[in-house]
Amino acid sequence: MWRATSVEAGAGSLRALPPFFSLYIHVPLCRSLCPYCHFYRIPPRPGDEERYLKALCLEASALGPKAPGPVRTIYVGGGTPSLLPSSFYIRLFSNLRDLFVLEDLKETTVEVDARITKDELFGLADAGFDRVSIGIKSFQKDSLKKLGVRHDNEKSPAVAGWARDAGFSSVGIDLLYGFEGQKMRDLITDLETGLAVKPDHISMYALQECEEQGPRELDPDITAQMFRESRRVLTAGGFCQYEICNFARPGHISLQNLNYWMDGDYFGLGPSSHSALTLGGSRRRWANKNDLDAYLNNPVNVREELSVEDSKESPAEALILALRLASGVDSEAFALRYGTDPRKLLGSSLAEFRDLGLLRSSSRKIRLTTRGMLLSNEVFERIL
Ligand code: SF4
Repeated sequence: MWRATSVEAGAGSLRALPPFFSLYIHVPLCRSLCPYCHFYRIPPRPGDEERYLKALCLEASALGPKAPGPVRTIYVGGGTPSLLPSSFYIRLFSNLRDLFVLEDLKETTVEVDARITKDELFGLADAGFDRVSIGIKSFQKDSLKKLGVRHDNEKSPAVAGWARDAGFSSVGIDLLYGFEGQKMRDLITDLETGLAVKPDHISMYALQECEEQGPRELDPDITAQMFRESRRVLTAGGFCQYEICNFARPGHISLQNLNYWMDGDYFGLGPSSHSALTLGGSRRRWANKNDLDAYLNNPVNVREELSVEDSKESPAEALILALRLASGVDSEAFALRYGTDPRKLLGSSLAEFRDLGLLRSSSRKIRLTTRGMLLSNEVFERIL
C-alpha cells in the first residue's frame, strides 16, 4: 500500500510526497445536534437519502471532466456519514467510478459516530472503505454531559475493535478537550482509554465555543497544559504528532488531510464542502452553500467562488497550511513550487515570531514551536 511511512517522509516535506487529487463528500446529517459543533448538519428527514444520492451524482458528473488526474484519496465526512446505509455508498462509488479514475485509490475514509453497530461497520468495509474515523469526543458519560451531548457512550470502547474485525486497515478516533468542567484527570482517562482501544490515529481537538448555550472553553493556560499532556501521553504510547491536532502510528497519517495541508487539489461534493483546483496557472477555491434543500434542488448551482489567484502569486495560504505540519515547511521545495522563499514571505514577522518563541527556522526548514502551535490562529492571521 502507498502510505506515508514516517512523519519526515510523509508529512514534513513538500518535496518528499507531492500533492495529489482527492475527493471529499459531505453528509450533513446528525441524529442530534451537538451544541459545540461548527459543521453544517441537520437531523435526517424521510425521503432525503435517494434525492441526496441523485444530487451527489449530478454534481460529480459536472465536476468529473475537470478532474486534474486520478483520485488518490476519498473522504466521506460530516455530519454523520454512518447514518446512511452501505448500499448508498456502493451505488455512489459505482457512479464515481464512471466519472473519475479510481483505479489507484490509496485511502478511502468514512467518519462514523460511536453509536454505530458492528453490522453497520461490516457493511461500510464491504462498500469499499479501508479507513474509519470514529467520533468518540469522550469515553466518559460526565464529560459528554458537560459537552451537551445527549447520547451515552457505553459502546465507544468496543467500536474500534469491531472496525478491526470488519477489516478496516486504519482505525482513527477523535477526542475533545479544553471544555469547562473538564479536569486534567478526565483528559488523562480519555487518553488512556483511547490508547487501550489500540487505534492507529488520534485527533485531539480543543473545544472552540460556538453557540450561546453551548459548552464554554477552559482558561487558555489550562488548555495549553492539556495540549502538552496529550502530546506527552500519546508520544509515550507510540504516536507521533504530525500536525497540530493529529497523531498517528507510523504508516497511518491521514493522506486526505495531508493533501489539504500540502495545498493539493480536491473537489468537495455536497452542501458546505470546499474545493481547490490549480488550472492553467490559476488557483481556484470555491465552496458549496450550507443549504441541503438548495443542493437537492440544483446541486450544480450552489457554489460560491472564494478566490481565483495566480497560483504563483498568493502562496500565503499555502504557507499557513504547511505550517500546520509538525515538521514544518521545506523552504527550497516551497520556493520551487510558489516562486517565493517562505522566509521572504514572512518578512520581518519571521524574526518577531522567532523572538516570541513561536517559530523555529533553519536554512532549510521553518516550523511552529509548541508555543506557536498553541497560538497558531494568531500566527496565521498575522501571516495573512
Ligand atoms: S455528531 Fe459530530 S458532526 Fe454531528 S453535531 Fe455532533 S459533533 Fe457535529
